[in-house]
Amino acid sequence: MSQVESVIVVGASAAGISCVRKLRNDGFLGSITLVDKDQHGAYERPPLSKQVLLEADTTHKDIALISDDELTELDIIAYYGDGAHKVDPTSRTVTLESGKQLTADVIVLATGGEARRLPIEGADLPQVLVLRHYEDALNLRQRLTPDARVAVIGGGFIGAETTASLSKSGFFVYWLDAVELPMAHLLPQELCKKIVANTCAQGAKLVNNCRIKKFIEQADGQVSILFEDDTSIEVDAVVMGVGMTPKTPYLSAATTSKMLNQATGGIQVNQNQATEYPGVYAAGDVAAVLQDDGSTVRHEHWQAAQYQGERTAAAILNQELPPEPVDWFWSDQGDLHIEMAGNILPTQEHLVVRHEGDWPVYFSVVDNQMIGAVSVDNPNAVRAAMRMIKNKVHVDPSRLADLEIPLRKQMRG
Ligand SMILES: Cc1cc2nc3c(=O)[nH]c(=O)nc-3n(C[C@H](O)[C@H](O)[C@H](O)COP(=O)(O)OP(=O)(O)OC[C@H]3O[C@@H](n4cnc5c(N)ncnc54)[C@H](O)[C@@H]3O)c2cc1C
Repeated sequence: MSQVESVIVVGASAAGISCVRKLRNDGFLGSITLVDKDQHGAYERPPLSKQVLLEADTTHKDIALISDDELTELDIIAYYGDGAHKVDPTSRTVTLESGKQLTADVIVLATGGEARRLPIEGADLPQVLVLRHYEDALNLRQRLTPDARVAVIGGGFIGAETTASLSKSGFFVYWLDAVELPMAHLLPQELCKKIVANTCAQGAKLVNNCRIKKFIEQADGQVSILFEDDTSIEVDAVVMGVGMTPKTPYLSAATTSKMLNQATGGIQVNQNQATEYPGVYAAGDVAAVLQDDGSTVRHEHWQAAQYQGERTAAAILNQELPPEPVDWFWSDQGDLHIEMAGNILPTQEHLVVRHEGDWPVYFSVVDNQMIGAVSVDNPNAVRAAMRMIKNKVHVDPSRLADLEIPLRKQMRG
């Protein structure tokens, strides 16, 4: 492709903002246009299930990803509250909801996704909420009268964080999950049990193995959640934390079939974050990225989005790609700060437990290679594991578990 003189980034969040920052910081002199359908512009999503629920005076400005001043300084034109209605990857034209048409040499699609809603009768009631945008968090906060009772559905991180934040703030929360133990698909079982017990000790009530039949609005504005076994509970609000789906309604049907990865629903990109349309890239939660082994992975966490935004900028600038970091993510659940790295295999077979302090650290070790780690309130242990993963250090499970041998002494094998 000839010299790039103009870039449109659709989606002003972790991926989009890291992309535009790197473009400018690395000397790109052409025009940059940022488009986001959210009227509040660029803000961090992780605080929506934490700080924004815990501290009632937090506004979108407190969690902004980029300030108006920095946008001016970086000479970026931002269209907030006017989303991309149509993206034509062939002519590289973006038609906004307002009808305005923008064309550029390069388009970066960084539109993340939408929170999933369970297809259950009554799921469209105004009391049944999701948590993906700032307005969602505000909507929930506005329903939190001092004696409010809330039901949070979902045993993933967003469900766990929302339950913990609301319980910590003194609200009564029913934590509903379809399986026995929340987060057991993500973390080692023993650790999940401890984390869940900690949250329940703050006042949340776990309702596990439940099957919801429908939501029924009551005359007093409450919602009754009716289960398959015909029991029911009454709450003031329901939060569905049941995952997200990449959303790309701005692509035509014909383009969708060419651009989307069937398995993940994301926009298929190569390791340069490039789609098969010249000059069109995708990054962040919406991107399904081709791996070395030919598989495709779509991440849903902050660090990956941020890195992919930078990698996109590097590809646009024809730079060497920045080295891929070891996967790292965190989850704050009430008072607990959980960090995870690499690939945590919740199965017992590959787990090594180091009983450090109140919370054991779990490592996933396969063939004497560290492949993942998780800790609670112990980020240093995860950082040490990340070094071992990155440097492919030969590890000895018995030494890893041995408290007499500091982890920092094991980082070189
Ligand atoms: C409640 C919550 C808590 C989270 N907590 C954590 C955490 O603790 N740790 C962690 O690692 N990750 C966490 N995540 C995940 C993390 O926030 C996401 O992985 C990250 O935000 C993805 O960034 P992104 O830029 O790819 O997409 P998104 O953040 O989804 O942003 C996409 C942007 O595109 C915009 N957009 C969408 N469609 C259009 C359109 N047609 N036109 C214009 N703009 C459009 C949206 O308005 C949005 O601003 C959390 C997510 C949520 C929702």
